Amino acid sequence: MTLIYRTSRTGTPPPRAPITGYSGAARLQNVPKSPVFINFGVAGPNGARLCVVSKKGLPVYKWDKSIKRALVVVAHPDDVDFGSAGTVAYLTNRGVDVAYCLVTSGDAGGDDSTESREERIAIREDEQTAAAKEVGVTDLTFLHWPDGRVETTMALRREIARVIRSHKPHLVITQSPERNYDRIFSSHPDHMATGEATLRAVYPDARNPHAFPELVREGFAPHTVGEVWISSAQPTMVVDITKSFDAKIAALKQHVSQIGQREDIEKFLRRNSRLVAKNAGLGKAHMAEGFRVVATK
Ligand SMILES: [Zn+2]
Repeated sequence: MTLIYRTSRTGTPPPRAPITGYSGAARLQNVPKSPVFINFGVAGPNGARLCVVSKKGLPVYKWDKSIKRALVVVAHPDDVDFGSAGTVAYLTNRGVDVAYCLVTSGDAGGDDSTESREERIAIREDEQTAAAKEVGVTDLTFLHWPDGRVETTMALRREIARVIRSHKPHLVITQSPERNYDRIFSSHPDHMATGEATLRAVYPDARNPHAFPELVREGFAPHTVGEVWISSAQPTMVVDITKSFDAKIAALKQHVSQIGQREDIEKFLRRNSRLVAKNAGLGKAHMAEGFRVVATK
């Protein structure tokens, strides 16, 4: 293991490692042999954030106290639980106040469902609320956009900016606005639209007092988010969720209307999480969730 520091604008610029790209396989070929500093442009309390670099070089998030509040913005109920509930449990276990913002209530989910749209919304909101509880989250906002019809509109940006200004998170976790050409299921249009709208809400909307002046009039003062983690198949950082994996599974199992009694879900996720950990050079017994870290300051 090698220690690295992520630096901020205010921190003393450390020597740069000879690393260019910072993602995926290319990153792994450039394994640093000595402690390196990688500039994410993220401000920690003392101008730097400690990470741990595994043998293969992909940083493993190391807890520090600069993140006191976090906000997860996703398109559908269960998205957060598949993508980042292990990380959410990791954070809430350390006292972070995590809130969820659900753009839709998943009213188009479940191909065989016979309930009315209103019934499906109620079921899925209840399931997500119960799932959130499993990982220590009780603050949920449902924006009630229609499932399957999410677009990156100014109206959605304003709604997300309002939630950001209300919760004032140091960290926002969201979905990727980029299409994954290897696997179409991971690029639901709602996910991409939500990811893009969230990034636009983080910058510039939430921090700019002139963006949506009506929000200021409503009492929502501008807020600058410190960093964004995008759930990604090509992570630039992983979170070791070995100890919070059980909570993630417990959360997922609350989505009965979606996963039913699927016994294989735990096996599937265990295998996937182990693969993410392995690709980051963590030991065999470890499990991880991967994120692309976006500097926002
Ligand atoms: Zn989804």
